[in-house]
Amino acid sequence: MSFDLNKKKVFVCDLDGTLFMGPHPIEPAVRFVIDSCNSKRFAFYYLTNNTSKTPDAYIKKIGGAGIPVTEEQILTPLITLENYIREQACRSVYMVASEAVVAHLQGLLPDVSFEFAPDRNELMVLAYDAELTYEKLRRLAVLYNARPELDFVATHPDTCCPSEHGPIPDVGGMLKLLKATNGMTPRHIFGKPSPSLMDPVLKRFAREEIAVVGDRLYTDKAMADRAGVDFVCVLSGETTRESLAAYDGPPPAVVVEQFGELLAH
Ligand SMILES: [Mg+2]
Repeated sequence: MSFDLNKKKVFVCDLDGTLFMGPHPIEPAVRFVIDSCNSKRFAFYYLTNNTSKTPDAYIKKIGGAGIPVTEEQILTPLITLENYIREQACRSVYMVASEAVVAHLQGLLPDVSFEFAPDRNELMVLAYDAELTYEKLRRLAVLYNARPELDFVATHPDTCCPSEHGPIPDVGGMLKLLKATNGMTPRHIFGKPSPSLMDPVLKRFAREEIAVVGDRLYTDKAMADRAGVDFVCVLSGETTRESLAAYDGPPPAVVVEQFGELLAH
């Protein structure tokens, strides 16, 4: 195995299934991160496709587990979405997202309206909305029926989110529902496995100094592969020994039960 921990300077860490299971920290993994921060042995970025929460909420969640963290270390598709809205110069966006997430973007983009306005909306966005209602889905379908050319983006592709009660519905599942309804399909899907979220890390560190740590092969590993960096697969979330054995892509650089076990390598 070519993985050399001594060459690594930074870990890009997935959160759900890697450092947390639902609200609960995965203790040995979190302990490894805290110890590494204290000794300054490694730098860390925290990457999540979960757009049900604001970056602030993640600072509280990560900080609440005892890990020192600042906003620059949090990488979410909401950053990509903000840039996209700016680039497209959208003034009216219909966004299916939790109230806190819409308020977060409204704060960053004060000149943009996030109201449902069928005649004015220039973009439809589907985020992981933990406050999702039938009415919100109905509005997306109605917008598409009236204006099939209207731009539509989704924050990430995950079909489900791991939780302490097993998999629960996520954006990818909602996209399947919408596709089955009237054929509507997003023009862009942000988040992992797109490596664009890693740009701040790739600017600061050489590829051989970086490792991505995560529990999902089709998002975390796919992103690492596309970025050309090592992938550490943890078995504390979605991936099991069985699903790993059935995986036909190039193997992860390392497989560990949980992130803290990496020190043994
Ligand atoms: Mg995960």
